[in-house]
Amino acid sequence: MPTLKFAVLPGDYIGPEVMTAALRVFEHVAKQEGLTLAYTTADVGGAGIDNHGKALPDSTLKLCAESDAILFGSVGGPKWEKLPPKEQPERAALLPLRKHFTLFANLRPGLLYRELTDASPLKTERIPDGIDIVCIRELTGGLYFGLPKHTTTLPDGDIQAVDTMVYKKSEIERILQVAITAARARKKKLCSVDKANVLETSVLWRKTVSEYCAAHAPDIALSHMYVDNAAMQLARDPNQFDVFVTENMFGDILSDEMAVICGSLGMLSSASLGTGRNSLGLPFGLYEPAGGTAPDIAGKGIANPCAQILSVAQMLRYSFNLEPIAKRIEAAVKKAVTSGTRTGDIAFGRPSVGTKAMADAVIAHL
Ligand code: NAD
Repeated sequence: MPTLKFAVLPGDYIGPEVMTAALRVFEHVAKQEGLTLAYTTADVGGAGIDNHGKALPDSTLKLCAESDAILFGSVGGPKWEKLPPKEQPERAALLPLRKHFTLFANLRPGLLYRELTDASPLKTERIPDGIDIVCIRELTGGLYFGLPKHTTTLPDGDIQAVDTMVYKKSEIERILQVAITAARARKKKLCSVDKANVLETSVLWRKTVSEYCAAHAPDIALSHMYVDNAAMQLARDPNQFDVFVTENMFGDILSDEMAVICGSLGMLSSASLGTGRNSLGLPFGLYEPAGGTAPDIAGKGIANPCAQILSVAQMLRYSFNLEPIAKRIEAAVKKAVTSGTRTGDIAFGRPSVGTKAMADAVIAHL
């Protein structure tokens, strides 16, 4: 009986609520599939600050290092907003976690079921069958991390700020490998997004992607697109993409555009993968909902647990190589969300049947 060893970091506000629901679904699947779940729960974010004086307590980091994957909720909220920026839960917990484990690849499925197309700001005739695409964003390089990065006062009294965009060929190749794997699991169609008409890093990006795919992935239908056009095409006809891969800042912006056209934050999960391998020789990863801690609805029992449940599916897919079980969970979520108005309501942010009832509906379809 395979044992799945993972760390559970629920975080703050709705984090623990949706995590409890997701774990209940996971326990149910595990029983059906003969899996043993060996997980330990630890504080992170505001809970880390309150209980250990630190957003990312040493004991939490140690637990993560000893696990095969991290199932993350979300962190932050009004309770800790007055802290200095460097001590805020997101900045002091999530970013160091990504950095510590070199989680350079962020995979975010953009999924909108056909039955829920009216949740999207796009006209239904543009997405008659919903949306089903994947964004792969480089997460630890580019403009956000490049040095020098500073603000200086010039001799004439003017003020100058500098950010630096840096990419190495090796960094481009490693994110590309993740994108190729994702594309191979889908329609074998990959669009690389850059700004090669203006940026040196993008020229290297495009050349590296072209050469690497020609040499190592001739089975992939590769295309290139400038980022400004990609932003337009996402709003015009999102399904022309299957998998798209891009650098850090472009991915930050395009993945948020993708989230909004998919209609509901409570439905989107994400996987962050790194260079590390777990004890099974598979990618070590952090799996989390795309949304935040939703303080406005915390404690009411109405948060949509689907993104957290879909994060479990992602963890099974990448860190445990259990694709069939991941697909079963995804199919059950789809059925639960689309099979009735009441359960469907929750994805639209309308009055809902509640977190627990949604998890029950998913379990009923497993
Ligand atoms: P948010 O994503 O928490 O909420 C935005 C809106 O979406 C709210 O109206 C909320 O009620 C709704 N929403 C989000 N998730 C939902 C769900 N599962 N079900 C139903 N509705 C849901 O964004 P925000 O309000 O800007 O941020 C709140 C806090 O979360 C902030 O402290 C922010 O820093 C933090 N945050 C954390 C993460 C993370 O941990 N990865 C990500 C984003 C924001």
